[in-house]
Amino acid sequence: MNAPSPASPTLKVLPLGGLGEIGKNMTVVEYDGKIIVIDAGVRFPTAEQVGIDLVLPDFSYLKDRAQDIEAIVITHGHEDHLGALPFVIKQLGGARNAPKIYGRPLTMAMGRSKLEEHRLREVQLTDTPLSKEIKLGKFSIELIHCTHSIPDACNVAVTCDAGTLLFTGDYKFDQTPVDGPPADFLRLARFGKEGLLMLLGDSTNVDRPGWSPSESLVGPALYDVFAKQRGRIIVTSFASNLHRVQQVIDAAADLNRKVCLLGRSMKKNTNIAKALGILNIPDGLLVQPRELENLPDHRVVVMSTGSQGEPLAALRRMAFRDHPQIRIHEGDTVVFSATPIPGNERAVNETIDKLYQAGAHVVTHKDAPIHASGHGYAEEMKMMLNLTKPKYVMPLHGDHHRLQLHKKLAVSVGVPEKHVFCAENGLPVEIDQRGARFGKPVPSGVMYVDGSDIGETADAALRDRRSLSEDGLFVVVATIGDDDGKSVAEAELLFRGVPFKHDEKFLQAVREQVDASVERAAADKIHDLDEIQRILHDDIAQLVWTKIKRRPVVMPVVVAV
Ligand SMILES: [Zn+2]
Ligand SMILES: [Zn+2]
Repeated sequence: MNAPSPASPTLKVLPLGGLGEIGKNMTVVEYDGKIIVIDAGVRFPTAEQVGIDLVLPDFSYLKDRAQDIEAIVITHGHEDHLGALPFVIKQLGGARNAPKIYGRPLTMAMGRSKLEEHRLREVQLTDTPLSKEIKLGKFSIELIHCTHSIPDACNVAVTCDAGTLLFTGDYKFDQTPVDGPPADFLRLARFGKEGLLMLLGDSTNVDRPGWSPSESLVGPALYDVFAKQRGRIIVTSFASNLHRVQQVIDAAADLNRKVCLLGRSMKKNTNIAKALGILNIPDGLLVQPRELENLPDHRVVVMSTGSQGEPLAALRRMAFRDHPQIRIHEGDTVVFSATPIPGNERAVNETIDKLYQAGAHVVTHKDAPIHASGHGYAEEMKMMLNLTKPKYVMPLHGDHHRLQLHKKLAVSVGVPEKHVFCAENGLPVEIDQRGARFGKPVPSGVMYVDGSDIGETADAALRDRRSLSEDGLFVVVATIGDDDGKSVAEAELLFRGVPFKHDEKFLQAVREQVDASVERAAADKIHDLDEIQRILHDDIAQLVWTKIKRRPVVMPVVVAV
């Protein structure tokens, strides 16, 4: 056998989320034992995941590797790129062990606010300039300006001895953006000239031919729709789409209407953007919900969260007559300045229908051009490929169908088919002098955030009601010894309205889990009954979900005898 030659290290690109789905984007770049993480996003639960607050990528690959991580770079402030940051930091051992976080100022401000909610104040978030190479051990990174549906979005280049990777992040090529310059075409073209090892590109709108419309077309369209209304206007969009918030504010101001912001994320993002000078809001324009009673309907615009039919968002609660401050009435017009993300269509349609039932009229992008996507269409993606001329391509940010379409598109502009890697979450691509190939898969999947960690109490009550109505109630009674905390009788299981077939094997698995959880608590010397009940709740909820894909309200009762 030949002695191994002193080859240079293998560059590993490992997506942990965002492939085969829209959401929870996260990719690991690893070279010579060191790591850069690009994005740390969440996915919102689907209608079937009642009782779940957030879905996270499985980032157990990073466990115990805090010291190897040179940086976490966040491309922009959307939840599917930023939302998992607090959970990643906790996994890495908390604020003190946290690697440095890099990104543009708005992104960092949103990250800071998110980390503060989780009491992770010591983490260092670095406002990072554009077009400047930043050395990070064996790597260097560079942030490049691009356009998307939130200010301060960027492409991220990661360079090491093996070459340069370019993460597009989410982007469109808006030639007439409402704020700042268009994408940095010149810089992108320089990658093409100097040689780019791999492009990791957004696949969201690969199925749409042509070019996406510019955000600057939306403002006039919104104005036209608003100008026709005599009653209240309730407009909904993504809370993070600050361009849209600005355009709604401008139209409202021009038409002499006051604006009331509804929804926690809407208020939070607006405050952050105001502080950074990104939003321009005339004095006295914003009003509180209680002030609406004193204003005639034709002087009111309500801007609300809930454009995706999210169960807990303000608009959905209005539609279901469940909002504490605003009741929909005859004459209201609800303007959807957003389109449903794939997977949310049903919830959005249901919300719209309920709004009609409550007496409102609804305007969507089908009636007027009041929305422009933040993701480029097929021709823009071809332009990205033609400008940067990558040797290899890895489509990101899309379901499997879109990843495959992105592959076809790359091949159509001349990238050899075997140089395009349609990966999966947990499936790395390894690159060395001999070429690129898929490596060995690592554990991947999802982690759930459920319950007390986030969300407000009112949300928790609503969630419980939904869970009860859809998946019923599951009561677990464990009897433990007063002295040693060990299980002294077989667990009793009672359930009402849990839609599953009576299956003794499943029930036995639950009983065994009860015993295992109680034993673990006893071994950990946990004697507080509330605490034991909490452990039981989490373990049983997880087991029930794994076994029957249901989220009943789990009520553990621990009796000490
Ligand atoms: Zn995204
Ligand atoms: Zn985005």
